[in-house]
Amino acid sequence: MKIDSGYADLLVNMECPCGCNTPINVGDNSIGHKEVWNGIVDIMLGPLAVSGAKSKVEDKVLEDSNTVCELDTSGKLEEAKHQLISETITFAFTMQSVVPLLGISKENFRVYMYDPDEDLLYESTTIPLFVFPVEGRQLHITSIIALWMIVNFDHFFTGVKCNQIEFGYKADLNKFLDEYHCDIYKHHLRIGGLRHVKSKHSKEAHAGMNMGKFNRLISS
Ligand SMILES: [Zn+2]
Repeated sequence: MKIDSGYADLLVNMECPCGCNTPINVGDNSIGHKEVWNGIVDIMLGPLAVSGAKSKVEDKVLEDSNTVCELDTSGKLEEAKHQLISETITFAFTMQSVVPLLGISKENFRVYMYDPDEDLLYESTTIPLFVFPVEGRQLHITSIIALWMIVNFDHFFTGVKCNQIEFGYKADLNKFLDEYHCDIYKHHLRIGGLRHVKSKHSKEAHAGMNMGKFNRLISS
């Protein structure tokens, strides 16, 4: 597990704040390329990326946080959607495979996946973290099992099915990118070294994608 160095100031010591004493690895989780989309994944957990739904699209320092180590989850998932999709696609190209991205807010989470070979983009429904209405913020057990399956994605992912490819739920990435920028996504993305790099090819490229055509990853 690697937490982005943007959160380093919030860590009292380099151990998991839950009390399990697991050392926390802090590093540069920036991904992408300066010519295309680039940004920061909050946590890299094996093949899984975790990103908080931030209230502002730009990554910001958590000045008002008083928790030991708190992800910036102050925003709403729907508002952070374009940011999360951009991260998902960039992360999948970086890893050269289908990898999940967990977008998390204070109340809910969503899972996104992108298949860079078949150009398939998946979005789960919004899954609640807590049982409502209830006092005491009781965790939603089904959601916790879903989270556990996502964290153990390596063991549960059975691959992209032929019928999903045939169904044609494409992200149509090549409609938004010319050949030059497609080539960067396919061959030149990197992890690290992209902090404070301004992207020429802005976030709007992904924001324009057809949102109605996603495969539903987890049905409600
Ligand atoms: Zn722990």
